[in-house]
Amino acid sequence: MKKGVLVIISGFSGAGKGTVTKNLVKRYDQYALSISATSRAPRPGEREGIDYFFKTKEEFEKMIREDAFIEYAMYVGNYYGTPKDYVFGQLEAGKDVILEIEVQGALQVKAKMPDAVTVFMTTPSASVLKERLFGRGTETDELIADRLARARVEAELINKYDYIVVNNDLEECIAGLHQLIQSQHCRASQNIEFMADIKKQLEEI
Ligand code: 5GP
Repeated sequence: MKKGVLVIISGFSGAGKGTVTKNLVKRYDQYALSISATSRAPRPGEREGIDYFFKTKEEFEKMIREDAFIEYAMYVGNYYGTPKDYVFGQLEAGKDVILEIEVQGALQVKAKMPDAVTVFMTTPSASVLKERLFGRGTETDELIADRLARARVEAELINKYDYIVVNNDLEECIAGLHQLIQSQHCRASQNIEFMADIKKQLEEI
């Protein structure tokens, strides 16, 4: 079984990562979306085990001690982390696994797993980002200000990503990202077994 591609998607809060990744998973069987653990409180409508595994700070710290995460980070005062088991299991099963995580976590994963593909999603402009954050209506002005401040910090790290995707039109963004991820299956590093096999066949022919 050919292993799946590990895709890490980051982007400014409000860039639409959640909508894009959820649509990819809904439309194509090929994808599995990793569910993170977090110590932040659920937003209205969010469900345990679907949007996140909601943990107390103490529970989260216990998971850190047990080495349960591929990566974890503190973001605007709360912990967020990617549990190992699901991601590794799905990659082995041939699924393309999407991690939707912030920049510190993304760079940690990339350092550990260089074959992972990192994608940064952004709005076409800063003013569109601000409008989208206000439009969400779920966050206080203070939290929005925090997220914009955080976006300024994240902007410094965009050049460490493999790809940039601009989310202007949702449908175009979903299609473009799907194409980008699927093209990764052609990378030589994704086809090590196949290449070894061909070499062996050539010797035997
Ligand atoms: P939110 O609170 O809006 O759901 O997420 C805040 C930020 O945390 C987003 O940028 C999101 O991508 C990121 N995030 C979600 N899960 C994880 C995770 O498991 N690890 C890391 N490092 N970041 C995460």
